[in-house]
Amino acid sequence: MSKREKSVNSLEGPLTEVSAEFPERHILVKCPGCRRVIDQAKLDENLEVCPRCGRHLRVSGRKRMRMTVDAGSFQEWDRELAATDFLEFPGYAEKLEAAREKSHEADAVVCGRGAIGGHECALFFMNADFMMGSMGSVVGEKITRTFERATELGLPVVGFTVSGGARMQEGTTSLMQMAKVSAAVRRHSEAGLLYLTVLTDPTTGGVTASFAMEGDVILAEPGALVAFAGPRVIEQTTHKRLPNGFQRSEFLLEHGFCDLIVERKDMAATLAELLALHKGVAPAPGSPHALSHEEPRGRRGARPKRAPEPESAYDIVKLTRSTDRATALELLERGLDGFIELHGDRLFADDAAVVAGIGWKGGRVLTVVAIERGNTTKERVRRNFGMAHPEGYRKAQRLMRQAEKFRRPVLCLVDTSGAYCGIGAEERGQGEAIASSLVEMSGLETPIVSVVVGEGGSGGALALAVADRVYMLGSAAYSVVSPEGCASILWKDTKRADEAAAALRITAADLAELGIVDGVISDFGLTHAEIAHDLMREVELALDELSGRSADELVAGRYDKFRAMGGNRICSR
Ligand SMILES: [Zn+2]
Repeated sequence: MSKREKSVNSLEGPLTEVSAEFPERHILVKCPGCRRVIDQAKLDENLEVCPRCGRHLRVSGRKRMRMTVDAGSFQEWDRELAATDFLEFPGYAEKLEAAREKSHEADAVVCGRGAIGGHECALFFMNADFMMGSMGSVVGEKITRTFERATELGLPVVGFTVSGGARMQEGTTSLMQMAKVSAAVRRHSEAGLLYLTVLTDPTTGGVTASFAMEGDVILAEPGALVAFAGPRVIEQTTHKRLPNGFQRSEFLLEHGFCDLIVERKDMAATLAELLALHKGVAPAPGSPHALSHEEPRGRRGARPKRAPEPESAYDIVKLTRSTDRATALELLERGLDGFIELHGDRLFADDAAVVAGIGWKGGRVLTVVAIERGNTTKERVRRNFGMAHPEGYRKAQRLMRQAEKFRRPVLCLVDTSGAYCGIGAEERGQGEAIASSLVEMSGLETPIVSVVVGEGGSGGALALAVADRVYMLGSAAYSVVSPEGCASILWKDTKRADEAAAALRITAADLAELGIVDGVISDFGLTHAEIAHDLMREVELALDELSGRSADELVAGRYDKFRAMGGNRICSR
C-alpha cells in the first residue's frame, strides 16, 4: 500500500503533504453533479465526494475496500479467478482484455475478509471500472464463495454493490448467478448471521434483483441510482418522462426499500456500529448514533408545566392528547444510550408514524418500535399524527423478525389514537397488517415489553402490544374505542364522552385492576427526562427477568397471558 493510499484510508494526512509528495500530480475533473472543475487531489482527500455539491462519485472496488476496512486487516480471497469466453461471444475476449488492462483487476468484484472498526467480517466490493460491474460467472462464484466461507467461519458479510446488471456475454449462465448467490445468502442467513448491503451508484438489473436487496440491513450512499430497469429502459417502455430523483437512494428510502442513507465519510463508522449491535454489543461511546443527554433540544428541554392531577377518566384522555407530553421518540432519545433508526417495510413505503430501529442501554441491545405523533405542527403532519398505515405495522413486523433472528429483545412504545382510517390504508390491507402483527408477536421467540405512553387506541395500539409485559404510564389510556366514538355510536351524543370514558374503564389504574396491564409507571408531575428514566428502569427490570427464559417458555407464557383475558369474566347459563 502506498503512502498516499494510506492517507486516504485513514482519513488523515493533509492535502499539502500529498501534493508535496506528488508535485507533478494536478489532474482536474469535472463533477457530474455541479459541473464545476475540481482538483483530483482535493477529491481524493474528500473520499471522492465533491466538496462543492456533495455528489458521491464512483470509486473502484479496491479503493472502496481501503476506505472501509481497518488498515492492514484485509485478506483477499480468489483474486486470481478470471472469466473465459466460453460462448465465444463476439468481442467478449477483447472486452475482457481491455477491462483487465484498465482496471488491473481480473474481474468485477474484490472479495475477502477484514475488520471494520475492529469487527471481523467477510466482504465484497463490486467494481464499476470492470465492465460496469457486470455480473458473470466470476462475480457470481466469488460472491457465493464469500457467503459460503462466511457461513463456515461464522462471520457477517458486508457487501458494496455497483453493477450494470448481468453480463450478456456469458448468456443465461449470468442469469443463473442471481439464483446461485441468493441461495448462499439464504444459508448464511439461516445460520443466524448478518448480511449488510451498501448500495452505491449505480446498482441495477440482476444485482438489484438478487443480493443487493437481500441484506438484513440495506444502506445506500446519497443519490445512488438503484433500479431493476434503468431509467432509459423505463422511458422507452412507458413513453413517460420520469420525475426528478426517480430511483435514487432517497426515493428508495421513501418507498421502503432501504434502511438508511449514509454519507461516505460516515460509512465505516456506521458499519462498525451495526456490526457491534448485531453481536449484541453496545457500540463504543462516540459512535455515530450514540445519544448525548447533556444538551436537550431547546424546544424540549424545559420542565413541563405541572399538570393538575386528573379528576376523571376523560381528564386523562385529554391529557394523553396534550401537546406538552413527551412523545415516544423523545422518551427513547432521553432513555436510551444510543439509537439507530431503520426504515421501510420492503413492500411499499416507510411510515413516519412508526419509528423503529436498534437501541442500546446499559450494555443491552434491543429492537425498538415506537408510534410517534410528532412535536411540531410540521412533524405531526409528516407523522400523520401518530396514526400508522399498514406499512408502519409491516416495518415493525420486519424488524421484530430480525430481533428474533439476532436474539434481541423488543421494546414497543405505544401512543396512537388508532391505526389510520383512509382509502390507501384500506387498499393496502390495514386489517391484514394489524392481524399479522398479532400473529407475529404471539409467536416471537424473543422477549417483548410494551409500554402505552399516551393514547392506546384500539387495534392500532394492540398491534404493538402483544407482549410478555405490558405497562402503562399513569397518565395513559388504553381502549377499544375513543370515548367520543363510543358516545357517538352507543348514545348518538359525543357530548357524553366524559361518561363513556368512565364507563369504558380505560385508565392505567383500571386496567391494572382488570389484569390487562402488568404495571403502572407513575408519571404525574415528572419532567420528560424523569419519565424516560423511570420507564427505562422498568423495562430493564422486566428484560432482566425475561432474558432467563427459553424461547419456548416465552411463547407459552405469552399464550397463557392473553389466553386468560376475558375467560375469567364470563359465566354459563
Ligand atoms: Zn459537484
